[in-house]
Amino acid sequence: MINDKRLMKSLDEYLADAERAHGHLCAGQVLGVRMAMTGLQTLGIEDPQGNDRKRLITFVEIDRCATDAVAVVTGCRLGKRALKFRDWGKVAATFVDVSNGKAIRIAVKDSSKALARRMHPELGNLNEQQMLAYSEMTDDDLFTTQWVKVQLPPEEFPGYKGERVVCEQCGEGINFRREVTRDGKILCRACAGESYYQRL
Ligand SMILES: [Zn+2]
Ligand SMILES: [Zn+2]
Repeated sequence: MINDKRLMKSLDEYLADAERAHGHLCAGQVLGVRMAMTGLQTLGIEDPQGNDRKRLITFVEIDRCATDAVAVVTGCRLGKRALKFRDWGKVAATFVDVSNGKAIRIAVKDSSKALARRMHPELGNLNEQQMLAYSEMTDDDLFTTQWVKVQLPPEEFPGYKGERVVCEQCGEGINFRREVTRDGKILCRACAGESYYQRL
């Protein structure tokens, strides 16, 4: 069988896709694209948007430019439940191959900023300096990578069909086992005191 279909795109091709999706090209896009490419390559996932579509769940640890680029390369989206957001303020992501449980966490090294400055002092514009340097740097200079284990209970998977329960306090429906039980009462996380808003 001849399979000459190239599945993974090049860095430049992904950057063009990312620019289209994100609205501009920036250093964060380069970081996000490279993180995702490295994650996929390490896991041996070649066709994240096609045949390997259901193999990948990605955790992102920041809601910035890089996150959009990770979504573009991996095809993992929040609305498909394949992109999980952990608000830790770190330019890092974990790529989980759900077919075998292998997971690789990739974090951008803090030292990469200073290295970018040393690599391209001729570029006065910080964004341009970083965009170029981040696309040229080796994975080792740019990232810390570690194999990790991620517990993924059934309700975390994209196709999960679970029972929907109703909060005994506010009456709103809760999906995906996000309810909490307090003093024998089933509550949503807002009513249980984890709310991000105050009622006026
Ligand atoms: Zn950006
Ligand atoms: Zn409630």
